[in-house]
Amino acid sequence: MTKEHGKAEVLRERRKALLRQMDRIGDLRPGSLVEMYRKCGKPNCRCARPGERGHGPTFILTRKKGGKTVTRAIPDDAVQRTREQLAEYRRFQEVVREFVEVSEAICDAELRERGPGGRIAGKDVASRRPSPRRSTPEGPRRAETPPRS
Ligand SMILES: [Zn+2]
Repeated sequence: MTKEHGKAEVLRERRKALLRQMDRIGDLRPGSLVEMYRKCGKPNCRCARPGERGHGPTFILTRKKGGKTVTRAIPDDAVQRTREQLAEYRRFQEVVREFVEVSEAICDAELRERGPGGRIAGKDVASRRPSPRRSTPEGPRRAETPPRS
């Protein structure tokens, strides 16, 4: 049991560390930044030549909301800041994901500590350590060309 207690201790420390990380999370927003290029329609313009992708880029933030994709134009001088906010969101998701994982492991450890009867069928269900495995969170897909060109 002491071994189990030690494990729970480690897990609780990890959970505290994650809470401290959450405390440092800054402004964030979900979505992807997409570059848009536009043809102005003037026949003499450079953008009318074959192979030209058009004027731009202008930046559009897209995000899924209730099954629909909503978009928002991002001014050029806000692009860098928006990228940071998007990155912060992914960081936040990563911290939350690990927080849930650690919390779950703590709950499992607690169940195991209940002793006889608290035993979980199978082996070592609760002793799986939360791994710092990096899953690739969905990132912004950049440099997408607009559907019409
Ligand atoms: Zn043009």
